[in-house]
Amino acid sequence: MQYPEWIWHNGEIKPWAEATTHVMAHALHYGSSVFEGIRCYRTPDGPAIFRLSDHNRRLHASAKIHDFAIPYSLDELNAATREVLRRNRLDAAYIRPVAFRGLGGFGLTAETPIEVSIGAWPWGTYLGEGVLESGIDACVSSWQRFAPNTIPAGAKAGGNYLSGQLVAREARRLGFGEGIALASTGLLSEGAGENLFLVFDGVLHTPPVSAALLNGITRHSLIVLARQAGLEVVERDMPREYLYLCDELFMCGTAAEITPIRSVDGRQVGEGRAGPVTRRLQELFFGLFDGRTPDVHGWLERV
Ligand code: PMP
Repeated sequence: MQYPEWIWHNGEIKPWAEATTHVMAHALHYGSSVFEGIRCYRTPDGPAIFRLSDHNRRLHASAKIHDFAIPYSLDELNAATREVLRRNRLDAAYIRPVAFRGLGGFGLTAETPIEVSIGAWPWGTYLGEGVLESGIDACVSSWQRFAPNTIPAGAKAGGNYLSGQLVAREARRLGFGEGIALASTGLLSEGAGENLFLVFDGVLHTPPVSAALLNGITRHSLIVLARQAGLEVVERDMPREYLYLCDELFMCGTAAEITPIRSVDGRQVGEGRAGPVTRRLQELFFGLFDGRTPDVHGWLERV
């Protein structure tokens, strides 16, 4: 694999191979990291990072939930992100900031130094070539999301992705494109690394943040774009079988963008391809990057 040349680590830009940590780092043993996934898009006005500040705000919020402070301000993280893109001459990229408990004691409660790094690399369609048009076949996972008051789903923490890996790896092993997890209530939660939207009679329905999901920035952006376009959006709890009964279904996230789902558990969803509401949202969302959708909220942050 070809890695980019430069990475930002603990306040400085370093060659990729020099951005290392110790094997006894706390995060490696206990999952004590928080991270983000951010995308930079090519636009007619040059590269733009989608909601960079909101992602870095969520990074700080995730650390707060897990009782540590990131030793870099929002402005410092934003500037470091831009530097990584510029130094690697990347104009369309996936960006991965991570903050974690490093080396500094062995106990669970060790007050270790907090390390921070930001890497970026070109990353195409996360769930496979062509899936933004064709859609994927999904399944409901045999693994549920963690119950409230166990592990906070609202933090984007490394340890949470043990759940995501179980869901995603099971789905791939069974031949599906992605897995969908139910909350501990048995109601719909989210995909392994994506939020869900169901469409009934032209109205968008998405599970609420109380359903053990990550409050996705793409999810929020689509709610705003849909309402602006006059579409109705409802946040509500839904049972599993609604996946089979809805007219349209899609997943969304920074990596997955807007991926239609054409079947769940072998049952065709709607017409078995991206429906009109899904396609409208794809146009509105990707329109932000080619100029068709005006950026009225200042979501495009220039490199
Ligand atoms: N849920 C999970 C579990 C995720 O990992 C992600 C990706 N960060 C999402 C939802 C979507 O969030 P976002 O739109 O902020 O990328």
